Amino acid sequence: MDNNHFKDHVALVTGGASGIGLGIARKFVAAGATVIAVGRNKEKLQAAGSELGSRYIAEICDVTDEKRIMEISQFVRKSYGKLDVLVNNAGNARFVSPEQFDEKTFHFHFDVIVKGSMLFVKHFTPMLRESSNPSIINISSIAAGSNIIWPNHFLYSSAKLALEKYTQHLVRDLWGVRSNVIIPGLIDTPIWEAGLIEPLEGKSLSDTVNELLEAAKQTIPAGRIGVPDDIAECVLFLCSDQARYINGASIVIDGGMICSGLGLGL
Ligand code: NAP
Repeated sequence: MDNNHFKDHVALVTGGASGIGLGIARKFVAAGATVIAVGRNKEKLQAAGSELGSRYIAEICDVTDEKRIMEISQFVRKSYGKLDVLVNNAGNARFVSPEQFDEKTFHFHFDVIVKGSMLFVKHFTPMLRESSNPSIINISSIAAGSNIIWPNHFLYSSAKLALEKYTQHLVRDLWGVRSNVIIPGLIDTPIWEAGLIEPLEGKSLSDTVNELLEAAKQTIPAGRIGVPDDIAECVLFLCSDQARYINGASIVIDGGMICSGLGLGL
């Protein structure tokens, strides 16, 4: 993507201060766009802002807080008058047994992944309609795939599957606003050390994560774990002029892991 492809474009990325979201924000800024990055963690947003400069606008916001989302939509309307790209990337994952889950863990997954995405679409679609090539990208996960059933992962994977179905409805209901889903495989980001897995006995969390990701490499034909740029490159393509006819697509980016049939032996 050339340096100016997204000049004068405005992109909003939820969870835009770390991992995949930060990777997406970096690429958009490098391609000339202004990025509104949404997240809860002020320090992470500030650090990303110092790296990416004045076209990275940090907004502290919990994606489940409709009032705050409305404030940000008013800010974007006043400042830019339109939105070209909405990336619903914020997400959480924890392992929990179907016999032990509680309302808190339910909301932890569904409120962020499903409700949060729906709220951003609700409040930003009027501004997306002001764009000449409006695009919504929702970030799902291979965990939602019908051939991957990871133990105690049902809240995360069913929320992601709901997000995929929702995206297809958007194609119909928002008619003219392109909506596509990206389905990442294993990507090296902070999510792995944010409570997703328990440390193995006698090992630190970070050693456990490294061990797990190292073992997972054997199931990935690409021979490596993914990095945020693997996802970000595809997001930019899907939002570009070259992708104007791509609408309602679900794109797996997993280095071939699903097709390897090996899965991740969690
Ligand atoms: P990450 O660095 O932990 O990013 C998750 C982001 O979600 C954080 O920036 C976090 O921001 C944000 N977030 C969570 N709850 C939020 C809330 N209530 N309000 C606002 N922001 C919230 O991990 P990541 O891997 O890049 O994850 C990004 C997306 O990719 C997620 O949807 C994840 O499910 C998906 N994904 C990741 C992988 C993988 O292997 N890494 C694979 C498949 C799919 P704050 O910390 O500021 O709240």
